[in-house]
Amino acid sequence: MRPRKIEKRLDPEYLTPIYRMALLQFEQAADKLALDPNVRKRFTDPKRAIMVNIPIRMDDHSVEVFHGYRVQHDTTLGPSKGGIRYHPDVNLGEVSALAMWMTWKCALMGLPFGGAKGGIRCDPHALSRNELQRLTRRYTAEMIQFIGPEIDVPAPDVGTNEQIMAWMMDTYSQFRGYSTPGIVTGKPIRIGGSLGRTEATGRGVVYCIMEAMLHLNMQAEGKRAVIQGFGNVGANAAAILHKEGIKVIAVSDVKSGLYNSNGLDIPALRKHLENNHFVESFPEGDRVTNAELLELPCDVLVPAALSEQITKENAERISCTILAEAANGPTTPAADEILRARGIFLVPDVLANAGGVTVSYFEWVQGLQNLFWTEEEVNNRLEKIIKKAFQSVLALSLSEQVDMRLAALMLSIQKITEAKKARGLFP
Ligand code: GLU
Repeated sequence: MRPRKIEKRLDPEYLTPIYRMALLQFEQAADKLALDPNVRKRFTDPKRAIMVNIPIRMDDHSVEVFHGYRVQHDTTLGPSKGGIRYHPDVNLGEVSALAMWMTWKCALMGLPFGGAKGGIRCDPHALSRNELQRLTRRYTAEMIQFIGPEIDVPAPDVGTNEQIMAWMMDTYSQFRGYSTPGIVTGKPIRIGGSLGRTEATGRGVVYCIMEAMLHLNMQAEGKRAVIQGFGNVGANAAAILHKEGIKVIAVSDVKSGLYNSNGLDIPALRKHLENNHFVESFPEGDRVTNAELLELPCDVLVPAALSEQITKENAERISCTILAEAANGPTTPAADEILRARGIFLVPDVLANAGGVTVSYFEWVQGLQNLFWTEEEVNNRLEKIIKKAFQSVLALSLSEQVDMRLAALMLSIQKITEAKKARGLFP
């Protein structure tokens, strides 16, 4: 299915399955737009990719070396923006695909940012707090020339959190000699984080689900949702859906899932997880595997874990009306085709999970101005931006008779292409 010309032109180290997937999505949108071939070439490879070896002293005094990455896909609209992932599977191809998706996501939301992503190949759960701190500080030091509030602004992603952002901000500030909150977003509130940032991705997912329901003439009350992944995004999406009167009938984490056809008590589950690691220890509900969970009949399915979960192997058995991609890249292009043919309404990742980076933008703006907003202001502005983006994607999808992913990518690529043309090519 992949056009051969691209395979030849690309550096082989990018060509992991997930980068192929990002490229194929891009190619489909570029074809539909009849994109100028000179611009097309500039989008297929990331603008800059930095790979570092990070030596740290472990608690037992031995030295371990970790692989770290930061990929800046495009900076046409502003500094690049995107999270840092700590996970054993992190590699250059994955980080590059995620960086490309950030480019589309920021442009679609109308944010003055390009796209980036970073990561360290490690198992954060196997490292002590001190080891994690040393790893984060050394990674930041290795990246110091390539990041900055006007250059590239990291944020949390899978396996990282506000504490990691605080260490990054402190390390960067030590090098500069003054406190620089604008270097990262997703920081703790007391060092310049934004109110509402922690819930923002989950909140954005729910705004998209509500808009999709409106479009499909569905009442929210009593509808059933299934959520794969109960990290920051999945847990917040579950809590907000629960508040909206939607029954969350199943959730899962890396180990296993929990199912109750009458709806799980999400507030009680979240309380339980304050002192317990895994959802399986929650007394209420039946056990299901992650694979079974994805195929449970429901109205709304929210993959909020890792990429490539819905594939050609299980797409025929996915049994939902709306699929809202809270994770990045959970659906492969082959699965996309099957879901489209089956009439499932898919809200793509670059739209569904864009609430996080949108409030990251608010955090960056508040930090630069030293003027902080109320949570209500943050949520209201987020709601407006996400709903407007949803409606533009929906309108294009209807007028061009394409699915929501293709429409979203077409809008983003069009916007950045216009900006590239206005700026011209240096020299
Ligand atoms: N990691 C998040 C994402 O994939 C947030 C990025 C950000 O806030 O910069 O969208």
